[in-house]
Amino acid sequence: MRSVAIVGGGQAGLPVAFGLLDKGYQVTVVTNRTPDEIRAGKVTSSQCMFAPSLDVERALGINDWENTCPPVEGIGFAVPHPEQAGAKVIDWSARLDRPAQSVDQRLKMPVWLEQVEARGGQVMIMDAGIAELEALADTHDLVILAAGKGEVVRLFERDAARSPFDKPQRALALTYVHGLRPTPEYSRVSFNLVPGVGEYFVFPALTFSGPCDIMVFEGVPGGPLDCWKSATTPAEHLAVSKRFLDTYLPWEGDRARNVELTDDRGVLAGAFAPTVRKPVLTLPSGRLVFGLGDAVVTNDPITGQGSNNAAKAAKVYLGAILERGEQAYTREWMEQTFECYWDYARWVVRWTNSLLTPPPPHVLQLLGAAGQLPTLASTIANGFNHPPNYFPAWDDAAAAARLIAEHQQSMPVAA
Ligand SMILES: Cc1cc2nc3c(=O)[nH]c(=O)nc-3n(C[C@H](O)[C@H](O)[C@H](O)COP(=O)(O)OP(=O)(O)OC[C@H]3O[C@@H](n4cnc5c(N)ncnc54)[C@H](O)[C@@H]3O)c2cc1C
Repeated sequence: MRSVAIVGGGQAGLPVAFGLLDKGYQVTVVTNRTPDEIRAGKVTSSQCMFAPSLDVERALGINDWENTCPPVEGIGFAVPHPEQAGAKVIDWSARLDRPAQSVDQRLKMPVWLEQVEARGGQVMIMDAGIAELEALADTHDLVILAAGKGEVVRLFERDAARSPFDKPQRALALTYVHGLRPTPEYSRVSFNLVPGVGEYFVFPALTFSGPCDIMVFEGVPGGPLDCWKSATTPAEHLAVSKRFLDTYLPWEGDRARNVELTDDRGVLAGAFAPTVRKPVLTLPSGRLVFGLGDAVVTNDPITGQGSNNAAKAAKVYLGAILERGEQAYTREWMEQTFECYWDYARWVVRWTNSLLTPPPPHVLQLLGAAGQLPTLASTIANGFNHPPNYFPAWDDAAAAARLIAEHQQSMPVAA
C-alpha cells in the first residue's frame, strides 16, 4: 500500500488526505494544532468558497455544513462618490449561478481532522521542520507540505518571476459579527472599493454561534485603513471597523449599526506578501517534498480565492497521485503536477495582483459598464467561480471594449 504524509491540516491538505484514504492509501497528516486548539483559537480566514470549490468537497463527502451554512447568492460592487458623501459612482449587483458558502475554519478543520482518523488515517500533532520532514520522507512514498503561511514553507524557494510583489500590499483585518442588516432580495458578497484607501467586503458565513457575517478590510499600506495596530482589544477592533464604515462607506455603516462580535476571537489583523514559490523542496538527504496550497501560491485575499485555490489544487494533486499508480513520485512528476495546477492558478494570481495596484481605465470601464448592463454584471460576478474567464478582457483594453459591446448588443431594445 502506498503511503503519503501530508504536513498541514488545512483547506488544501485535508481534501487530499480524504481522497487518498478513500482509495486505500496509507495517510499520515501532520499538523501543529490539535482540533481543540483550533476551536479555541482566533479566526484564520474569511474562506468564501464558490460553487466549483464546494463541488470538490461534495465529491469527497466532506461537505458537512452544506445545509446549515447560509448561502452567498450574489456579488455586489460599489465605489463611493469622491465628492458627494454617501453617494456612489458605481453600484451594481448580480446573482451567482450557484451559491457560495463560507464555514469558519475553526469549525471545519477540527471536524475534518477527527474524520481523517475515523476514516483510518493517522494524525500527528507536531510542528514540522527539516528533521521531521526528513523522518516522514524516510517512512513515506510521498511527502506533501501544505502548511499554509507557516514559517516552514519558506524552505520552498520564492519564484521571483511569478511574484511581482515582495512586500504586503494590504493591511488585512477580519471582523466576525452577528446583527448585520441583510442586503435586499438576495445575500451577497458586498464589495466596496475606496480608491487609494482600500477595500471592504462583507458576506454571510457560519460560525460556532450560528449564521454570522464576515467583514474583510483591505487597507492600502500607510493609508487610513492601515489602522489595526491601534486596536489592542476585540472591542477596539470592532469600534475601528465601524468607524471606518461610518466615515468612508456610510451605507455599510448603516447596515452595521447594531453588530456585535461573534466571539472575542472573531477578529484578526495582519499582512503578508503575495508569493509564488517553486513547488519542490530538496531536503539535505536529497529526498523531495512537494508543496501544495498557500505553501506555494499565496494570494492576497482581495479576490477571496485562497481557499478556492486550495480546493482546486487538492483536486489536481489528488488526481495526479492516483493516476501515478505504483510509479515513483519524481521531481519531474511534481513539477508537471504543479504546472497543471498553475495553468489555472496563474490567471487567479494575475487577476488578484491586478487589483492590488490602481486599476487601469479599461478595468474601471468594465466595472462601471456592469452598472448599466446586467448580463455583464452577471459575467463579472460569476467570474469568481472561475477567474480565467476574466481574460483576455481584464488585461487587454481592446478585448474589454469588445466584451462591453457584446453585452450592449444583447440588451433588449426598449419598445
Ligand atoms: C484575512 C484573510 C481572509 C481570507 N479570505 C478568504 C476568502 O474569502 N476566500 C478564500 O477562498 N480564501 C480566503 N483566504 C485564504 C484562505 O484562508 C487560504 O488560502 C487557505 O486557507 C489556504 O489553505 P492551506 O491549506 O494552503 O493553508 P491553511 O489553511 O493555512 O492550513 C495550513 C495548516 O498547516 C498548519 N501548519 C503550519 N505550519 C506547520 C508546521 N510547521 N507543521 C505542521 N503544521 C503546520 C497550520 O496550523 C494549518 O492548519 C483568506 C486569508 C486571510 C489571511
